[in-house]
Parts: sequence; C-alpha cells; structure tokens
Amino acid sequence: MDQAAVRVTNLRKSYGEVHAVDGVTFVVPAAHVFTLLGPNGAGKTTTLEILEGIRDADEGEIEVLGQRVRRIDRTIKERMGVLLQEGNFEPYLRVKEVLRLFASFFHSPRSPSEVLREVSLEEKANAYVKTLSGGQRQRLALGVALINDPDLIFLDEPTTGLDPQARRNIWSLVTGLTDAGKTIILTTHYMEEAESLSHLVCIMDHGRLIAQGSPRELAAQLGRETLIEFVAQAGVAPSPEFLGPACKAVRRDGDLILVETGDLVATMARLLEWSAAAASPLAGMTVRQPNLEDVFLSMTGRRLRE
Ligand code: ATP
Repeated sequence: MDQAAVRVTNLRKSYGEVHAVDGVTFVVPAAHVFTLLGPNGAGKTTTLEILEGIRDADEGEIEVLGQRVRRIDRTIKERMGVLLQEGNFEPYLRVKEVLRLFASFFHSPRSPSEVLREVSLEEKANAYVKTLSGGQRQRLALGVALINDPDLIFLDEPTTGLDPQARRNIWSLVTGLTDAGKTIILTTHYMEEAESLSHLVCIMDHGRLIAQGSPRELAAQLGRETLIEFVAQAGVAPSPEFLGPACKAVRRDGDLILVETGDLVATMARLLEWSAAAASPLAGMTVRQPNLEDVFLSMTGRRLRE
C-alpha cells in the first residue's frame, strides 16, 4: 500500500452507555481522500475529533504522519488543518483579518493573500464575514484550514447546507489539494460527495465500520446487479418469486420499490406482466447501477439520511 498518513487500530470512545466509537480500525493512505460515511450519530465526528486532538480515545492505537501517539500534540497539530463549521467566525472581522488571526497561531504560516487566491476569495479580502454567502464562508473556512500549509486536512461535513454550485467549488478545491499531495479525511452524509471525491470510503454505523473500499469496490459488493426503482401503487409490490430467478431481491424504501436483478431484460419482462396483472403502473420507473446509498441500505435496511 502507499505510505500511510494515518493508522488507527481498535479505536474506542464511549460517552457513558453510548459506544460512540466501538473498535474502529483503518488506514488512510497519503495523498488520498479518505471518507467516513454514515448516518447521524454513527460516530464520525467523534473519530475525527480524536484524530484532531480535541478528544482523547478510551482505547486504541493512533499513528499520525509517521508518529505513533497516545494523543495528538502541538507538533502534530502544526501539520494538520481543520475545517471549522461555517458561522464560527466573528461576523465583524474582515476576511483577511480572519486569516491573519489564524496565521498567528502557527510558527510558519502561509501568506493570507496566497491562501485567499487559492480559495478564490481575493475580491472579498476586505469584506466583513457577515456579508459572505454560505459558499464563500465555507471557502474562507477551508482557507483557514490551509493557512499552516498542512499535510493532513480534516473536513467534517464541508458542504452541508450549500447549494450545488458552491458544493462543486469545494469539491474542486479538495481535488486540487490531493493532487498537491495533501491527505484529506472527510466526513459526509452526502452519498454523491463521497462518491465523487473519495479514493477510499469507510461506511460507519453505530460506532463500527461495516464496510470499506473504493466507491467502485463498495458498489461492486452488491454484485453485478442492476436496480429497477418505481413508486408502489397503493403499497403493492411484486414478489421476488414472481419476478423469476434473475431477481435477487425486492426491497421497499418508503413509497419506493427497489428490484435488484442480475438480468435486466428477463426481470423487466416479468415486471411488465406483473404491472398489467396488478393494474399497477410502474410510476417514475428508473433503471440504474448500485451506489453507496444502496450498499448502506442493503447492509442496514436503512438510508444514510433518514
Ligand atoms: P452526525 O452525522 O450527526 O454529526 P456522527 O456520525 O458524527 O453524527 P457523533 O457525533 O460522533 O456521530 O456521535 C456518536 C454518538 O455519540 C451519538 O450517539 C451521539 O449522541 C453521542 N455523543 C457525541 N458526543 C457526545 C457527548 N459529548 N456526550 C455524550 N454523547 C455524545
């Protein structure tokens, strides 16, 4: 494997009775985007906060940037960048003042103007934080995370609440960072974000890792199946037996029926027969390949965002 930026072995953290992180092991290769994907409360933030040095683990081994550590100290923090959630900056500071302030926390920071250029906020250098749009604030937050020229960057839900264009701007900045050799640890519950950015995804649920691999490898866990989706009419769905041996499963997800098939043509022919016999139109039908959301659904019976 490529050089590791982070290795975590059997990490555990409980809050009273809640096992927030319950024996988690993973390796983050250098210059990769490593994503923790999971629903609310899965333990992603707790895992990140331990690696960022904000919380101590109860148990487990941690190696960061080649150093085996009990807890993350000041020297390692000099080489880390952390994206703060938007809205945390003083609204009456100007953009360049925010960057200067954060630069003052480090021994050898980058120049604020260089960072402003990198996150495309040069024309906002003198603007007050309170006048920035959500996407601009998030780019400022990313700039703050980059002010010390870190090797390892933590992005905890970097695009939550952003519109699609602002989200894509952040994605292209993230891709540029790994191209420059930086390692990114990302958490998200946006499946599309995990799919388009990650080299490696760990799916987390109830404090444990339930699957890991590249987005392609994870989707391949569902085999070569194709998914047929449609809205159930009055709650009726065909049985897998009726749809024939190529049909691997029929799942229900709210109003939606998901049919997994290894032979689209054969299953579709049976589905059309069923639709005519049951007088049930296949409303809003789509045919697609499995994605990370389907992997999660097939492993847990739940959606990432409930
Ligand atoms: P989200 O996507 O909502 O941010 P998450 O995957 O990041 O969720 P965590 O925030 O790590 O999950 O929370 C994991 C579990 O630990 C949850 O059940 C949460 O309620 C609990 N928890 C987190 N922080 C604390 C705390 N300081 N005290 C008590 N329980 C906590």
